[in-house]
Amino acid sequence: MRVDSNAMRIKGVLFDFDGTLTRPGALDFPAIKRILGCPPEHPILEFIASAPAHRQSELMKLLEEQEDLASKSSLPNRGAESCLLALKERLFPMGIHTRSRLKPIRMALERFEGVSIEDFRTVVTRETTRPKPHPEGVIRAAAEMGISCCQLLVVGDFSFDVIAGKRAGAMTAFLTNGGACVMAPENPAPDYIIGNLEELPDLLNRGFG
Ligand SMILES: [Mg+2]
Repeated sequence: MRVDSNAMRIKGVLFDFDGTLTRPGALDFPAIKRILGCPPEHPILEFIASAPAHRQSELMKLLEEQEDLASKSSLPNRGAESCLLALKERLFPMGIHTRSRLKPIRMALERFEGVSIEDFRTVVTRETTRPKPHPEGVIRAAAEMGISCCQLLVVGDFSFDVIAGKRAGAMTAFLTNGGACVMAPENPAPDYIIGNLEELPDLLNRGFG
């Protein structure tokens, strides 16, 4: 097998949650944006932050309700459980970095077979750091996982995952979930593009030769 020098550096994996570890669609962003009155092209958290002060807590409450609701119907993404189990068996440090909150993540993870929240060295949420694409959460996660950012692989299904990872100096893998890689040309290119999480253990194996 070809040895991949980038993969050789990887000592830990930081996963996005919704649409990465869980199947895309449970968190229906277009529907949530309609409920909040957020324009389709605007990211939700930034829309709420730019709303008049007196509306922000009401909008945040609506978002939290939708997040909690979605976590009840979310399912492990294709290959997520086998990928997490393979990394867990290798004692490979794993973390989660989400623009959501801890409560829905905890609820959704209860539906994963053989993996629990305790298997992750860190779960970084918008409650603990500035949300992606800000790199703060990636930097914090790497520190909590006991590795440096350049040894971390950030895996996610959205441009913000790649941008946050790159800004922190991490390596990045964009998960297409079988679709196209939708990174805009002005954004940094990911180091890897994978169709589903079943491909991730192989990618890491390339570092071992
Ligand atoms: Mg996502």
